[in-house]
Amino acid sequence: MAIALDLLVVGSGGGPDETNLSGYLLKPADADWRDGVVALEAGSGQGTLRQLLRQNPQLLDCTTVSSKNDLVEERRRYTANEIYSFIRSYLITHAHLDHINSLVISAGSLRGQRKSIYAAKQTLQDLELIFADRLWPNLASWDESDEDYKFLYKILESDGNYYPVHPFISVRSFPLNHGTYEGNHYVSSAFFIRHDLSSVELLFFGDVEPDSVASDPRTIDVWRAAASKIPDKLRAIFIECSWPSGRPDELLHGHLTPEHLVAELVALAKEVVNHRQSLGSSRERARKRQKSGSVRDENEGLVHVLDGLSVYIMHCKDDMVGSEEPYSIRYLIKAQVQKLLEAHQLGVQVECAEPGMRINI
Ligand SMILES: [Zn+2]
Ligand SMILES: [Zn+2]
Repeated sequence: MAIALDLLVVGSGGGPDETNLSGYLLKPADADWRDGVVALEAGSGQGTLRQLLRQNPQLLDCTTVSSKNDLVEERRRYTANEIYSFIRSYLITHAHLDHINSLVISAGSLRGQRKSIYAAKQTLQDLELIFADRLWPNLASWDESDEDYKFLYKILESDGNYYPVHPFISVRSFPLNHGTYEGNHYVSSAFFIRHDLSSVELLFFGDVEPDSVASDPRTIDVWRAAASKIPDKLRAIFIECSWPSGRPDELLHGHLTPEHLVAELVALAKEVVNHRQSLGSSRERARKRQKSGSVRDENEGLVHVLDGLSVYIMHCKDDMVGSEEPYSIRYLIKAQVQKLLEAHQLGVQVECAEPGMRINI
């Protein structure tokens, strides 16, 4: 399968390490970074990318064939500052500081063209509280004609439509539950990010709590929308698993554990089965005739349903006290997820999103 999207993981943690916060850079696979970049979350930014480039100077290399002479390969190497100057748009799932830190800190010094911030209206209103000349200078505007401002707020509606956020990249947004405050839902977002030319997509989750603990489950809507796209169009899901196994529900603070993540993936697999049954293939009709009710029968019906799908675990909360090497927590969480998945044999490939990873989708 041809590669459609090129994703660089700048930071993938959920705190407290400020050098490893949610920050991803995305471009069409056949484009150069200088043709434009989408920043997906903006926790860690230039400083972290600079460190990553010190460790791996080839990390951002693009090899393109010169149009004048297709025998000449041109290899370009960029600095972290140049890469951030190429950003045209930011996609933000919610305005918690671990997702916007670098956007705010670098706002006054970013080079390149004006950058649009795409997010839900509430998220943009939360950002307005920061860009209000007290916490930080006001560097963002709602008005296209305010060309002096560094950022332009752009509301991303969750109305079922895909909206262009970049040449050849469109996004469909869904609201997610991310805990409560004073009795209200705190809303985060999930994004289906589509490469328009190939129709290949990735699904990126903001912080999310399990549907099983939410008073008004919303993640199921994301799974229903994903079901028909697996595996041909939707190849990769990026989803949080902030805590290791065994954390009680009352201490989730709007996040997932391995047990809850696996329950969510089983919910996705069931939606995929429902979709395939609705298409009425004879194989799926045979599955439908299976006795239901027992866990064993239910699991058999889901075996290899998610073949071809990769799930990248992210936003693991580092335990800085319990470990010399804070990043080891994500490997522990990945192992716990894989162990729990063994009983289901969904066929899904589980990885950790790691800083410095370049992922082809
Ligand atoms: Zn977060
Ligand atoms: Zn959050």
